[in-house]
Amino acid sequence: MQAWKKNIRKVVPYVPGEQPQRKVIKLNTNENPYPPAPGVKMALEEFNEDCLRLYPDPDCMKLRTVLADYYKVTPDNVFVGVGSDDVLSVAFMTFFNSDKPILFPDITYSFYSVWADVYRIPYEKIPVGEDFKITASDYYKENGGVIFANPNAPTAIYENLEFVEEIVKNNQDVIVIVDEAYIDFGGESAISLTEKYDNLLVVQTFSKSRSMAGTRIGFAIGNPELIKAMNDVKFSINSYTMNQNSLYIGGEAVKDDAYFKETVSKIVNTREKTMLRLKEMGFEGTDSKTNFLFVKHNAMRASEIFEKLKEKDIFVRYFKTAGIDNYLRITIGTDEEMEMLIKALEEIMNF
Ligand code: PMP
Repeated sequence: MQAWKKNIRKVVPYVPGEQPQRKVIKLNTNENPYPPAPGVKMALEEFNEDCLRLYPDPDCMKLRTVLADYYKVTPDNVFVGVGSDDVLSVAFMTFFNSDKPILFPDITYSFYSVWADVYRIPYEKIPVGEDFKITASDYYKENGGVIFANPNAPTAIYENLEFVEEIVKNNQDVIVIVDEAYIDFGGESAISLTEKYDNLLVVQTFSKSRSMAGTRIGFAIGNPELIKAMNDVKFSINSYTMNQNSLYIGGEAVKDDAYFKETVSKIVNTREKTMLRLKEMGFEGTDSKTNFLFVKHNAMRASEIFEKLKEKDIFVRYFKTAGIDNYLRITIGTDEEMEMLIKALEEIMNF
């Protein structure tokens, strides 16, 4: 073996859902089936050559200000990044530097252990219950930091603000990150707690409720000291992570609150209708407060349903992970897409 090989950083990467390059019914990566707010398209049309020629504002002030206004904080409470994956990655690097393990649930967004590995952060996965629920008191022990998704993924389970506060309150010596990628589909954000707890960082994304997964915008809200620390790390790697285009159009998605509420409520209605239909067919699942369902059927393995749906050009997500390997994660599409899913499931399962 060549000597240099031993110095290569070895990591097992996160595997994102498939992005097929042909038209399919795509219910596998929790994208929003509706277009972004109309103002986004209008802003794109005004996008001129200077926007391409010049470096973007490294402080991302315009977008941070829109977000600060919306969430009733100040721009120095807001960090923006290239999707919440980037924001979370910067947060891991910035805050998780203890010799003690960081804690997160064993069933959760599988990127957490990947970042911990790549940054060489020790971690401990805390088992969720048989009902996939997180037990808050499991996190009341010495640790180097805590991260959990609320609602959790892929279980879709939401815990209320009191639950979140208990974890934060019992961990005031470390940073607690709450990943709220799916919060807009039925939960109450912990942003309101960031004023009270200076060790709390709340992370959200434009990818789901704001229909902008392709633009890659995520953000964090926390006290100015946390945000400055994250910016210092960001500026030590790449000052211009946010491209001009995202900074230019991102704010438009936030300003149009009526459109945002309308599309979120359409997705919630479709989610509830679809879950009822699936239950009638014998599926079981968690009570989702996200834009996806987490379901299984006792008559057929999830892996088989997954393959058979794929043959019909309907893509859902299947994780070959112990504990959840008989479940499917199904993104909520339009009513029409969900009708096609139900029809396909009826055919596959001979109903
Ligand atoms: N957190 C959770 C729980 C997610 O499911 C996702 C989507 N894969 C993300 C963060 C990252 O989303 P994005 O980078 O598109 O903001």
